[in-house]
Amino acid sequence: MTVDTTPPWDDVRNYVDGDWRVPDGEDGQDVVDPATGETLARVGFSSDDEVDEAVRAGQAAFETWQSTPVEERIQPLFELKQLLEAHQDELAEVLVREHGKTFAEAKGELRRGIENVEVACGIPSMMQAGHLPNAAPGIDETAVRKPLGVFTAITPFNFPGMIPLWFLPYAVATGNAFVLKPSEQDPVVAERMFELVDEAGFPDGVVQLVHGGVDTVNALLDHEGIEGASFVGSTPVARQVYERAAANGKRAQAQGGAKNHVIVTETANLDFAAEKTVGSAFACGGERCLANDVAVVEDDVYEEFVDRVVEVSAAQTVGNGLDDGTDIGALITPDHEQRVRDMIASGVEEGAELLLDGRDVAVEGYEDGNFLGPTVFGDVDPEMTIAREEIFGPVLGLVRVGDLDEAIDVLNRSDFGNAASLFTGRGADAKRVRHEADVGNLGVNAGTAAPMAFFHFGGRKDSFFGDLHAQGEDMIHFYTDETVYIERWPDRES
Ligand code: NAD
Repeated sequence: MTVDTTPPWDDVRNYVDGDWRVPDGEDGQDVVDPATGETLARVGFSSDDEVDEAVRAGQAAFETWQSTPVEERIQPLFELKQLLEAHQDELAEVLVREHGKTFAEAKGELRRGIENVEVACGIPSMMQAGHLPNAAPGIDETAVRKPLGVFTAITPFNFPGMIPLWFLPYAVATGNAFVLKPSEQDPVVAERMFELVDEAGFPDGVVQLVHGGVDTVNALLDHEGIEGASFVGSTPVARQVYERAAANGKRAQAQGGAKNHVIVTETANLDFAAEKTVGSAFACGGERCLANDVAVVEDDVYEEFVDRVVEVSAAQTVGNGLDDGTDIGALITPDHEQRVRDMIASGVEEGAELLLDGRDVAVEGYEDGNFLGPTVFGDVDPEMTIAREEIFGPVLGLVRVGDLDEAIDVLNRSDFGNAASLFTGRGADAKRVRHEADVGNLGVNAGTAAPMAFFHFGGRKDSFFGDLHAQGEDMIHFYTDETVYIERWPDRES
């Protein structure tokens, strides 16, 4: 099979019960290339009836899928891994066209997605619970994990290839059926990935794709046939989705927005720290929940670190993500670009020192693209808007602190708790930050604290609502419920 990478594309389709259908809801929107302004496709929003059909198809498939031997359930996942790898370049091209990030970043996110398929292939071992002979006099006890039914995941625009794979492989490997509702802003890569899902050999109804916006999400959250919902997106919506799912008696996990800090101590390797900080802040145009966009720097090395950061930042090339040499691609929409511009304006108004201004960037040949160059602020006060709110653009702020105590305090005062990084040459500093930083993912001498798929993806405070996280073993617990068998078999004589 081939993956169609050449736009314009036909209307984006749902995948329900093994069939492809264009959503028939009244609403919808254009899918637009952020680098060129070209319309690539149209995505319609699924109606309540279409959501109902997808959930019912999942329920019907679950009847058999839940008791299909686990070894058989993972065979389509092995196939899916091969297909995703074989078509990684084409998927990456589609992803760049509708998202705007660079080709290398798109390939990288797909690799991180495939990693989750690989981990889920280990479900026969991971899904085992426990057995204890003689747990009580004459009694053996056995815990088993059982799948529950139909689960849904609602995913954001910024990693449209990877984030659906934080959930789908684990949901189906554990014996559940699954409905994905991807972002309406870049839904084509999900459709292309589902062409591979279709090819991989899952029974009809086990895996479904429905497109849509707010109403489609609410129809999923209100449907009595949905056992649980995973959400990844902005904090206000994460909170809302978590509350609605919970009010409807469903399992829920909702990952929200972020504001991540990097701490640079006086013993850090400053060249390395500057390079990694710039990479973390500006990769994917800053549209990453793991972007470290506030650098908290010890006074003794502040000036030196600032010079290096500005130098590395100024060398970044802004352009179309499909063109060689591009470091920073386009932002998702003109509205989002304007929001980031407004944040930069607020930084200037609130008194931060604008060390590098990306607002005048011009990308030849792409005058209709949503581009912003790397922007660096110095002397940022932790109370400024640019230091407190998620920007989701290529903007980095530098905060000067007296010592590590003050740095940890700045980090922990944030409303968010997704991730942080520490650059230091001193083990004792690392030990302290590991102990005291209130974040779900912490990098030590690592610019972007992204856990591999066999670890869960953490998050605290306004960055996460729930208890079990995406990826890894947490997903097994989210997608199953444990029954404990308590057995006594008295001897004939007793
Ligand atoms: P978003 O919240 O606008 O949308 C996410 C999903 O929710 C989409 O599928 C969208 O259709 C749906 N949605 C939007 N508004 C809704 C509403 N009112 N009710 C119900 N559903 C709604 O987020 P986005 O702009 O697509 O993604 C960017 C955000 O995601 C950033 O805040 C980023 O930090 C966050 N994010 C977090 C993580 C994490 O792991 N914590 C990972 C990636 C992205």
